[in-house]
Amino acid sequence: MSTSTKTAVVTGASSGIGAVYADRLAARGFDLILVARRADRLNALAGKLSAAHGIKVQVLVADLANEGDLARVEDVLKRDASVRMLVNNAGLARFRPFAQSSIDDAASQIALNITALTRLALAALPGFVARNEGTLINVASILAVHALPVSTVYSATKAYVLQFSRGLQQELANTGVTVQAVLPAATETEIWTEDVSGVPLSALAKDTVMSAGDLVDAALAGLAQGEAVTWPSVGDVGLWNTFDAARMALVGATQTGTPAARYKKA
Ligand code: NAP
Repeated sequence: MSTSTKTAVVTGASSGIGAVYADRLAARGFDLILVARRADRLNALAGKLSAAHGIKVQVLVADLANEGDLARVEDVLKRDASVRMLVNNAGLARFRPFAQSSIDDAASQIALNITALTRLALAALPGFVARNEGTLINVASILAVHALPVSTVYSATKAYVLQFSRGLQQELANTGVTVQAVLPAATETEIWTEDVSGVPLSALAKDTVMSAGDLVDAALAGLAQGEAVTWPSVGDVGLWNTFDAARMALVGATQTGTPAARYKKA
């Protein structure tokens, strides 16, 4: 079934980066499906955006770490042919040393940042491919390429998001489907609270923190420019190009079939 309305699904739309994506996509004329656990926040945003932009907004209250709730959201993505964009934004950070953390700290980050993101992409992509149209935005983090002593699991989940996106970009290269990975640095959102990440915003150097509005505007500008991987806070895009070229050279250098000379007995 094809349809002329275009809908964007935004996960984690009840606050921070996701709420700004919802606002910016509403302004671009998308109908919206907003996903998160806090119904009051989602309903308030839905009312505001539908009044301001004359769009349709559906609220899907769901805990994406819960099997039944995740399956409900997957079902919507599979069935609604108006869905042209999925913003896989919902994510969780628990910044503490791994050996001092609970299994729930690790499992909750993996469930949301990896499992839910993967399953929602798999629910959306077959429809995008069949219609030869669709955009998948995966919100990773600069910590996809960097681990701090307190970010071991979070960094690993975001490395997954980056590699997952890069693989999909190759699979879908000759289709009308676009996949963008967005790698924010510190952004002013509720993730920076004792309750969520364990680190308050006040612990960060002010001049390293971007507003969520600036972050999403830059990420959407990167998308419009056809970027596959967007580093909103990095001025010199040559740094990423050099990093990626070094990665390709390293992968090429592994294709020898023999141990490197330094590992051979003298
Ligand atoms: P945030 O304000 O804490 O927003 C997180 C969103 O995810 C909220 O809407 C939250 O809504 C939702 N969420 C959390 N757990 C959920 C669950 N189990 N099921 C469904 N929704 C859930 O943080 P943010 O900074 O905007 O984070 C958005 C994305 O940006 C994340 O992927 C994060 O890793 C990434 N990121 C953020 C920063 C930064 O400095 N802020 C930097 C790099 C990357 P409910 O609580 O209502 O469910």
